[in-house]
Amino acid sequence: SPKLNQAMGIDGNNILAESLKKQGIEYVFGIVGIPVIETSLAFQAAGIKYVGMRNEQAACYAAQAIGYLTGKPGVCLVVSGPGLLHCIGGMANAQVNCWPLIVIAGSCPEDHEGIGGFQEWLQVESSRLYCKYAFRPPSARLIPLHVEKAVRYASSGRPGVAYLDMPATLLMAEVDEDKVPLDYYATGPARLAHPDPELVEQAAELLSKADRPLIIVGKGAAYGKAEESLCKLVNVTKVPFLPTPMGKGVVPDNSEFCVSTARTQALLKADVILLLGARMNWMLHFGQTPRYAPDVKIIQVDITPEELHNSVKSEIAVHSDIKPFVDGLIQKLTEKKYSLQTSSTWWQALKEKQKKNTEFVEAQSNDKSVPLNYYAVFKTVQANIPQDSIIVSEGANTMDIGRGLLLNNKPRHRLDAGTFGTMGVGPGFAVAAAMWCRDYAPNKRVICVEGDSAFGFSGMEIETMFRYKLPVIIIIVNNNGIYSGFDKEMMKDIQSSGDIAQCTPPTALSTEVRYEKMMEMFGATGHLCRTVEEIETALKAAVAVTDRPSIINILINPQANRKPQTFNWLTESKL
Ligand code: ADP
Ligand code: MG
Repeated sequence: SPKLNQAMGIDGNNILAESLKKQGIEYVFGIVGIPVIETSLAFQAAGIKYVGMRNEQAACYAAQAIGYLTGKPGVCLVVSGPGLLHCIGGMANAQVNCWPLIVIAGSCPEDHEGIGGFQEWLQVESSRLYCKYAFRPPSARLIPLHVEKAVRYASSGRPGVAYLDMPATLLMAEVDEDKVPLDYYATGPARLAHPDPELVEQAAELLSKADRPLIIVGKGAAYGKAEESLCKLVNVTKVPFLPTPMGKGVVPDNSEFCVSTARTQALLKADVILLLGARMNWMLHFGQTPRYAPDVKIIQVDITPEELHNSVKSEIAVHSDIKPFVDGLIQKLTEKKYSLQTSSTWWQALKEKQKKNTEFVEAQSNDKSVPLNYYAVFKTVQANIPQDSIIVSEGANTMDIGRGLLLNNKPRHRLDAGTFGTMGVGPGFAVAAAMWCRDYAPNKRVICVEGDSAFGFSGMEIETMFRYKLPVIIIIVNNNGIYSGFDKEMMKDIQSSGDIAQCTPPTALSTEVRYEKMMEMFGATGHLCRTVEEIETALKAAVAVTDRPSIINILINPQANRKPQTFNWLTESKL
């Protein structure tokens, strides 16, 4: 066995590998080099899957996506100095999204520290801002203890990030195997935090008296696997619900009670809001006027007590896992004394708004004129992808408009730029999602819908997808720029009008870039589309391919935009 270097000796690499395995870690994403090559080999020898990627940031995104999908932290393994620093953006993204992640970096030998060691950097200190726990195990013997702690910190309470620093000297240190507490305890299946029954009663009382109730389903409900309970709650109470972007699919988007198409109205007019696993941050307009009624009453449920009353005071604030709270609430609400009667005028108002918005979207999406608009593209994509695919999406308009048209009817089937609004997450997320599908849902597909700018951040992960034979379908909605771009002729005129760095618009990218030709680097062919028919043909071909990724490059109208909004984004607006 590779872990036995001497008669009874085991080194730091193998202690680390065995400890992670004992804690149930399944997946590691990373990039190796000195001093973690042996570490990656030890992981594989211990029965852990290792996926080598092309940029540490993408590896970090992949590791956190697998954490969100499985509820168990993924590990990101990187080299010292620059390797770890490239991960920092990914660590912040996981921490801000409350996703479990463990980052492990090699670091320079301890006896080279302070004298200009190779890639020497203050790694623990650098990580601390982005972590719940950041530590360098003091000896090889104590690695299992800190691995257990890293897993526990990353996955319990509000999930987040743990960092373990592994100097080359520590990884190579040999210890008597029987002196290593390899069986250092593993945290058993987490017990759910139950709500105070009195608060459940109060919530039932308030909700049953509401005239215009609304349920908001956040990604905390998705992460907490509360789908069964939540579907039941919605179907029993018939209260309208609104998913947040990654809360989509906990209750199916195609449920008759979903009011996504009347989002602004629902938030603005609700008198009681049941907030389940979502923060009242920028995405939910802080729960404040002018986006909400000034006297709206909020029932807030969150696993994190510190989150309660944040940004807006809740009428009832419950520290609980979503699932046991919702189960308790259903039980209460089905008691005789409560008769939940959502007023028909509330539903009528919402339905009217839904109808109006749907009409706009339909008109746009039926407009097949070339160059295409976003709505026509997404309608065609939605109609031609396999049911219940995992949708990965990023970009500005691409993500925002796509969210309304690409439906999720299963929980944890949408991965996007998230709470931190991070661009560049797509390919990393898609690699993780496709690995997960391969192991747990072999017929499920991953559709990665990218703006052309967003794709540029991590596009080289296409090589990772080829290497691991991951059948991700990458759709690039290409408008030659950030937010919007320019067509070929306009760009030519603009760029010849003066100094190139002074006249090229900062939001512009090269026009009609043939991203699909990246497929040719691997001996395959991509798809270039300008029309609805071409998109249909390309998607059919891509769906039929199951042993490699595909790229569908859709050239759209560079000036295409989204539906005019009632409120300006992030700015206050007078009604
Ligand atoms: P969204 O992006 O959907 O609005 P956020 O990331 O803002 O969601 O909020 C998710 C919230 O869910 C966080 O405050 C987190 O503490 C909470 N949370 C995570 N897991 C659970 C769980 N199992 N039960 C209850 N709350 C949870
Ligand atoms: Mg673009």
